[in-house]
Amino acid sequence: MIVILKHSTTEEKRNQLISWLKRQGVDVHVSVGEYQTVLGMVGNTDMIDKELVASLDIVDSVKVVTDPFKCCNRKFHPDDSVISVGDVKIGGGNFCMIAGPCSVESEEQIVSVAKSVKAAGAGLLRGGAFKPRTSPYDFQGLKATGLELLKIARQETGLPIVTEVMGTADLHLFEDVDLIQIGARNMQNYDLLREVGKMGKPVLLKRGLANTIKELLMSAEYIMAGGSEDVILCERGIRTFDDYTRNTLDLAVVPVLHELTHLPVIVDPSHATGLARLVRPMALAAAVCGSDGLIIEVHNDPMHALCDGAQSLLPEDYAKLAEEVRKVREVAVR
Ligand code: PEP
Ligand code: MN
Repeated sequence: MIVILKHSTTEEKRNQLISWLKRQGVDVHVSVGEYQTVLGMVGNTDMIDKELVASLDIVDSVKVVTDPFKCCNRKFHPDDSVISVGDVKIGGGNFCMIAGPCSVESEEQIVSVAKSVKAAGAGLLRGGAFKPRTSPYDFQGLKATGLELLKIARQETGLPIVTEVMGTADLHLFEDVDLIQIGARNMQNYDLLREVGKMGKPVLLKRGLANTIKELLMSAEYIMAGGSEDVILCERGIRTFDDYTRNTLDLAVVPVLHELTHLPVIVDPSHATGLARLVRPMALAAAVCGSDGLIIEVHNDPMHALCDGAQSLLPEDYAKLAEEVRKVREVAVR
């Protein structure tokens, strides 16, 4: 249920209504927009007399929200959310380029890639320290050491860092991470989602390999119900019948998600395609279709990368692509 307040409502009257609604046993989310204020109720609203609320002189209208996702629903928060990660803003017209290697491999590697992606205009540095690998015999990441190397790269460049957490047992190591990534394979790890939400930090939530849009939003809802308002959604390709590309990039989710939710939506053309030569066209397409950012894998020596070399761009190719993205965005209309 949402209550839309009249433009003239004073803060005092608004707070009185919020207190009354809370006494009816619901949580109230307040979204103050330029043109309207929306109160969004989470919980059982059966006991609330909707006609009574609608009759109040400060209330413009009352609507029942039947969607199962509430906090991330655009009906609760009509304006785009703008999420701050360090000094970088994402969403609401703020486009963010995130780049870096699949995995942190050494100090030299992460610092060198960080410097080149920063020079190319990236706003955030990515790099996996805990790696979810299909085979237990493959490189599993440098783990805690990898996180320390990311922090060194942050210190050297000033770029905030984004890296994946795989389980609740490791969460204490992520206190000093700027943006915590939940990987595709963990999109429905509900304990992890809740615990990450409790940290109150920005979260990058990747769509699972075989998950629907609604399931993605319900996972965002878990994080928000845990306590974090700051969730960035990421389309990274889904599993389909075709195996020519690593996954199938579902770009239609970008405008669909913008309709359904106020959260920013970014695209990962690296994992979506699995092939470096396909990253450029898909990155440009994502920029045109309204994505709020791109997360792209970049490696100084893709041939010898310990993970995902085939889809990694060389720093110089990333720099060219970043420039092209800026150009297409100038003409792209959302
Ligand atoms: C990654 O970003 O390195 C990663 C493993 O991504 P995904 O969870 O989308 O596969
Ligand atoms: Mn990868």
